[in-house]
Amino acid sequence: MCLFCKIVNKEIPANIEMEDENFLAFHDINPKAPVHILVIPKQHVDSFNEVSAETMAGMTTFIQEVAEHVGIKESGYRLINNVGHNGGQEVKHLHWHVIGGAKLTFPHLTDADPKDFL
Ligand code: AMP
Repeated sequence: MCLFCKIVNKEIPANIEMEDENFLAFHDINPKAPVHILVIPKQHVDSFNEVSAETMAGMTTFIQEVAEHVGIKESGYRLINNVGHNGGQEVKHLHWHVIGGAKLTFPHLTDADPKDFL
């Protein structure tokens, strides 16, 4: 069973912020900003590559509710979804990073030359 499935099953602890029948929002153990919450589907999905449009529709509403609940809806926030090796996905259970609570930077992401892909 994967790490985040264990959190869903309450086999390992997490600082849970919100929960409904299908989704869970909990604080990242290594926050990158004053607010750093992870939103996951309770049913295991490896990554964004495999998620259904139906699940994403539910997650969209849930993420909007989380942003309002933690008070960052109006001030703004960033959603990050890392996919696979190059995306930097460490935990192979779909999760959206909901990051805010301060003005965020938009850092340099790679030393690769963007023209190499064209
Ligand atoms: P990613 O690199 O997109 O797969 O992000 C995985 C995230 O999970 C990282 O930001 C970690 O800090 C976070 N993380 C790992 N283990 C835990 C845990 N037990 N509870 C909360 N967050 C975790």
